[in-house]
Amino acid sequence: MYFKTIDFSKYSSIKVGQPAEVLMIEKGDSIPKDRYLIGGANNLLISPTPPPFMMLSKDFATITQKGDILTIGAAMPTGRIVSYTKKHDIAGFEFCSKLPGTLGGMLAMNAGVKEYEIFNILHSIKINGEWVLAKEIEHGYRFAKLGSIATHARFKIKKGFDQTLLDALLNLRSNQPHEPSAGSAFKNPKNDYAGRLIEAVGLKGERKGDMQWSNIHANFLINLGEGTHKDAIYLIDLAKERVLTTFNITLKEEIKLL
Ligand SMILES: Cc1cc2nc3c(=O)[nH]c(=O)nc-3n(C[C@H](O)[C@H](O)[C@H](O)COP(=O)(O)OP(=O)(O)OC[C@H]3O[C@@H](n4cnc5c(N)ncnc54)[C@H](O)[C@@H]3O)c2cc1C
Repeated sequence: MYFKTIDFSKYSSIKVGQPAEVLMIEKGDSIPKDRYLIGGANNLLISPTPPPFMMLSKDFATITQKGDILTIGAAMPTGRIVSYTKKHDIAGFEFCSKLPGTLGGMLAMNAGVKEYEIFNILHSIKINGEWVLAKEIEHGYRFAKLGSIATHARFKIKKGFDQTLLDALLNLRSNQPHEPSAGSAFKNPKNDYAGRLIEAVGLKGERKGDMQWSNIHANFLINLGEGTHKDAIYLIDLAKERVLTTFNITLKEEIKLL
């Protein structure tokens, strides 16, 4: 293992944070228990006083095929998974396109688009050196109880990369905000949409400093340049408070506040 300085104002997708010394885990290292693991930082909001971080090194950015099993390392970026499965005509990973992050982050969040979620196609995950079947892991909408760090995952190979599905999903994303964000800030409450609720309480487009609830998609907290953690938290708390007062609904953050 070794330390690497990562500047979260550049590395995180929402461009908030500061430089931190991150412990890089290499193959064969035992994984510390007192550090928070980050993947691609596409779902994080980093405070000025974050916990100590660690990250899986490129030793875990692997992808191998054996028989009908595809094994992918948790540090593998989603974009490379899509290009690999396209090249090898493998079905099921089309939805990972334009879903920024690493496989590890996808597993921990049960990331997905519409009805497509990573757990739907997952066979098993390697956690603490043991393979655990996906069906034995508690999971749901944007949540999975991994209990510890996932280093690899296995998928049963199904042939037939679906370019039409990929194109349809890309089209769906074409109206998303282009400014830096961490994707959806809140999970959708049952039978409703966080974006609709934020808009209904008059916060679509609301700005504090350089942070804003996007005019295009109200559940996207965007950074217009010099947005700070403090401004982001102000807008998050404001939305939660207004939605609770108006609709008696408690919005739950999808982004991880660290
Ligand atoms: C523009 C934009 C659009 C987005 N659209 C979507 C969308 O449509 N659907 C969706 O689901 N998400 C979406 N997101 C959120 C994000 O893409 C996903 O949550 C993604 O899976 C995060 O991956 P990451 O590697 O960046 O994880 P990080 O943000 O670094 O971490 C997220 C969580 O995963 C945990 N984690 C990371 N790696 C591991 C591991 N190896 N083992 C255990 N835990 C781990 C972290 O501890 C943290 O709790 C979007 C984000 C952006 C910026």
